[in-house]
Amino acid sequence: MKNMHFLNTGENTINRTIYQNETRKVLVVDDDFTVRLLARETLEDVGFIVTEAADGAQGFAAFESFQPEVILMDVMMPEIDGFSVCKKIRSHPDGNNVAILMMTGLEDMDSIQRAYEVGATDFITKPINWQILGYRANYMHRANQAFKDLRKSEAQLRSAQRIARLGSWEWDISNNKFLWSDELLHIFNISPAAIAGNYDTFIRFIHPIDKEHVKMTIEDAIATRQPFRIDYKIVLADGTERFVSTEGQPVSNGNGKPSKLSGTVQDITERKQTEEQIRSLALYDNLTGLPNRILFRDRLEQAIRQAARQNKMAAVMFIDLDHFKDVNDSMGHNAGDMLLRKVSQRLLSVTRSTDTVARLGGDEFTVALQNVPSLDVICQLSQKLIDAFSEPFAIETMSIFVTASIGVAVYPGDAEKADDLLKHADMAMYHAKEQGKNNYKLFSSEMQVKADTRLTMQNEIRLAMKNNEFSLHYQPQFNTITGKLAGMEALIRWNHPVKGVVFPNTFIPIAEATGLIVPLGEWVLQEACRQNMSWQAMGYEPLKISVNISAVQFKRGNIVNVIKTALESTGMDPHLLQIELTESSLMQYSENMGTKIVKDQATDFAAPISLAEEDNNSIVDALDLLQKLGVSIALDDFGTGYSSLSYLRYFPIDVIKIDRSFVWAINAWQGSEIISTIIEMSKRLHLQVTAEGVETEYQKTYLINQGCHELQGYLTGKPAPAEDCVKYFTQHQESVVNA
Ligand code: C2E
Ligand code: CA
Ligand code: CA
Repeated sequence: MKNMHFLNTGENTINRTIYQNETRKVLVVDDDFTVRLLARETLEDVGFIVTEAADGAQGFAAFESFQPEVILMDVMMPEIDGFSVCKKIRSHPDGNNVAILMMTGLEDMDSIQRAYEVGATDFITKPINWQILGYRANYMHRANQAFKDLRKSEAQLRSAQRIARLGSWEWDISNNKFLWSDELLHIFNISPAAIAGNYDTFIRFIHPIDKEHVKMTIEDAIATRQPFRIDYKIVLADGTERFVSTEGQPVSNGNGKPSKLSGTVQDITERKQTEEQIRSLALYDNLTGLPNRILFRDRLEQAIRQAARQNKMAAVMFIDLDHFKDVNDSMGHNAGDMLLRKVSQRLLSVTRSTDTVARLGGDEFTVALQNVPSLDVICQLSQKLIDAFSEPFAIETMSIFVTASIGVAVYPGDAEKADDLLKHADMAMYHAKEQGKNNYKLFSSEMQVKADTRLTMQNEIRLAMKNNEFSLHYQPQFNTITGKLAGMEALIRWNHPVKGVVFPNTFIPIAEATGLIVPLGEWVLQEACRQNMSWQAMGYEPLKISVNISAVQFKRGNIVNVIKTALESTGMDPHLLQIELTESSLMQYSENMGTKIVKDQATDFAAPISLAEEDNNSIVDALDLLQKLGVSIALDDFGTGYSSLSYLRYFPIDVIKIDRSFVWAINAWQGSEIISTIIEMSKRLHLQVTAEGVETEYQKTYLINQGCHELQGYLTGKPAPAEDCVKYFTQHQESVVNA
């Protein structure tokens, strides 16, 4: 029940429970035994632990060993008096942590005076009012505790400030006195003696670049009576520069006008340096050291602003390497990285110093052109960049030829904003790629329209698949020897509810770009096989059906399984299926081919490369598998791609389809040397030849005479819906074989 014990002292109640966890130690030093006894009783009653000492020497010894918070000390003692003991205690290292209450004679003013001089905390007069002593001791103890806490927190604050490199200051505006805290002096690396404590001294340390700004900020703060914060540099006496952050607040003198300004200064040099590092990491490309997208955008905006002010042009070039992936795949990522670094160096060497060359990522680079006087200059520079790629890059022991496609967008003509310019330059680059790569294209508004159409169409294709708006038409292929129907090519049609029939050339590229060709192509295969079986069921002779397959289907669509499924689910003989692949798609998607070809061209085919040795020719593997199944493979649009017969033997191919552009070139005045070469070559490689786009009798005769195996074209039969194709089964084409 001890902690529920209340000492009732009239109307004042001291709740002792609040002290129960503290040590409350009092030392009573008096040569008078009764005083000690009464003091002990009184003080123990209010919860103190009491120790007594009968003279000065004992008293000092007890102070050291007992470590009291409060000392009650008689001034008049034999040998050593209370003043001497008090003085001695105060000069002890722990002597400031104790409250000393001196007991003096009543109205002994000299003693009271002396007691304070030797460092007494307070005095109490004899004879002692014991009840008051209890309160007094309690108060002293609490005050002492508070002082101790304060000293402790001050010490903590000081060390916290030292750790945080945080100094404080106070500027008395009325007398221009400027007070520096220890840590502030430390930050400014000055000794207290060396400093004239006024505002100008403080300002003198500020870096010339920031000085005016800081002064204005402070003046503003005084005028508006608002707190402020500002980061700036200071220059120390030895010339080193530090970054500091200052916060300040006007202190009002009561009549509304600030009389003082006080605040803190923090040394943020390390933080700034880290920020700087982070900034550079965030703004520059690791690999090449070129500005990255973020910094590029910044520079471009700057170029645009400048162009706007000076009524000039700014431009963005979007540069994408052609066939970069092939280098990466065939030579490894290290070589790829090295190539990117070399490319960046070359770009820097051909651009002006005012232009910003950046790497957006991958093999995409951009250039921001500042201050461009005319379109001519832009075109010249674009050509210069293209030309810069005509020289090979030395990577490891190899010489690599890499070309680039460049798109250009110009401010203010093509767009007003940085992001739009970049987007348009990208679009133009895309067109440069489409038009054979290794060239540059200026953005045009038609490109924008085209891009918009693409997007809408992509959504429409999705919807059309859901609504079964696609169907297949079939075009007959006739055998030149027998004149009989040899097969049908399935050609997709889109029966658009508003636009009517939409032809594949408009939507297939978009379906390919978006990957929609995979499910769409799957449907085509399934439908073509189904239709072919349905003709068989109607009693017609089994017929070969040709289906166009996009390279994307090989890349992404697990084509072998898709074909197997179509054959199995319809029960069609694999030998009746022919798939048609374009030459360019074969090249595009067979890994490692691009670079080889570029290289081959550069060396004029001096060193043919064995493609069979390439490890990941996945398209070749797939074709092999299909051929083993019995499916035949036709190379479509032959002659329009790389036009190189020499690599044909590396692909498992059964049929070559001569592109219709060559067929159209045949007229009464001239045949076609290309066609005769192709047919000649095919014979040697044991390949069949089909000619497409045959429109005239003359062409037909010519092709038959050249030894073409099959003919396909409007002359012998236009693509038609399945139900109209029955006529082709009964039709017999006259062969015109020369005797
Ligand atoms: P392609 O494979 O070269 O198909 C032949 C194209 O030439 C067809 O155009 C056909 O209608 C047209 N044609 C045939 N004979 C003549 C002729 O005598 N004169 C003229 N002027 N044209 C003739 P279509 O049907 O518009 O197809 C265009 C291309 O779309 C096809 O070219 C093919 O690459 C692609 N395609 C068609 N269907 C599919 C498909 O189901 N999947 C994929 N991936 N592509 C397809
Ligand atoms: Ca075709
Ligand atoms: Ca074709």
